[in-house]
Amino acid sequence: MAAAIKAVRGTRDILDRESPTWRFLEATAARVFSLYGYRELRTPIFEKTELFARAVGGDTDIVEKEMYVFEDRNGASLALRPEGTAGVVRSFIENGLDRQLPWRVFYKGPMFRYERPQKGRYRQFHQMGCELFGPPGPMADAEMLMMVMRFFIDAGLEELVTLELNSLGCPACRPGYREKLLEYLHAHTEALCGNCQSRLERNPLRVLDCKNPNCKEVAASAPRTVEHLCTACGDHFQGLTGHLEAENIPLTVNPMMVRGLDYYTRTVFEVTTTALGAQNAVAAGGRYDGLVATMGGRATPAIGFAMGLERLALLLDERACPDPATPTVYVVAAGEGADLVGLGLTEQLRRLGVATEINLQGGSMRNQMKKAGRSGAPWSVIIGEREVDEGTVQLKQMATGEQQTLASEGLAERIAGRLYDGS
Ligand SMILES: [Zn+2]
Ligand SMILES: [Zn+2]
Repeated sequence: MAAAIKAVRGTRDILDRESPTWRFLEATAARVFSLYGYRELRTPIFEKTELFARAVGGDTDIVEKEMYVFEDRNGASLALRPEGTAGVVRSFIENGLDRQLPWRVFYKGPMFRYERPQKGRYRQFHQMGCELFGPPGPMADAEMLMMVMRFFIDAGLEELVTLELNSLGCPACRPGYREKLLEYLHAHTEALCGNCQSRLERNPLRVLDCKNPNCKEVAASAPRTVEHLCTACGDHFQGLTGHLEAENIPLTVNPMMVRGLDYYTRTVFEVTTTALGAQNAVAAGGRYDGLVATMGGRATPAIGFAMGLERLALLLDERACPDPATPTVYVVAAGEGADLVGLGLTEQLRRLGVATEINLQGGSMRNQMKKAGRSGAPWSVIIGEREVDEGTVQLKQMATGEQQTLASEGLAERIAGRLYDGS
């Protein structure tokens, strides 16, 4: 036998038995996003490497260490997308969409990062996210967070998650804050981990969300962004929390949250859970008012977020999600002429919208009934030689074992009718 080829490390199959969960998450999110006026945008899975270097930031872990970069046959440097926002911003600028603001879009699909694989983290992972371009004020931030929380309510996950919020300020107030933070961190440099020490000057904010216990201790007493906002940023943050409180959306202000990407301004947020072991973010995002201009477009305020589908699927793990492929009817056909009648009936039921499975492998009536039981179908139709001769079928309710004889004439319509009126 030839050696079997395995999947690439850090990738996995989402098996057919898991996909009802995924489809439930994707359908719930798409439905909620549509309620708020978001349409789907599908951008390519690979882009020019420089797009991500410029959008995400050249000195981030993502761009420095984690991107899948390759040369195509023409020598162009391309990268598999490590996140969704850069492509959306590129599309916004390239298609001249700043002439019809606000622009609301969502996306879904695989992203790629060369990270150490662990539970719930893969090198090909999947995100759904939204971006809103145009409105600069706190009302836009509030609407987006209401939409995020509406998703968690509709997915039945709201009990498991917390909304955390912070403001990172703007180009007017961040430099002053940065000074104060650096001054404080310089006084505690020896206590910081190597990673934080080396990026201290470039990105002192990252010390605040470093997971190292020593860094955490230093961060606990560090100056906080929310206490050093300019008036405009302070008003924005107050306006946002005011809107959310008016809508009774529970939130926690987390002054340590800085997010990993360089482009955020003002509002940043995470939806976190402790249900997967250590505290994890299942959705995260923020405002990025400067990014469109950085990417070569006309300055346009924007805000967005992404959710990780792997972690959301883990959160839903134990719950049964609707599976549209579970048959409502299982057709058992045994004996002379039964398969002809059975396959015809099966196709008519499907035409009427009834998910129907028919046994394709023959076998005894007893054997086929076992398969009907395992299929999960609440009903079975039994066609044996006697039924073929008499022009009838047996309709059996699997839960009660109750069985009745129905004439073949107009059968599919009558079965469908029986299923839907519940009698
Ligand atoms: Zn500011
Ligand atoms: Zn550190």
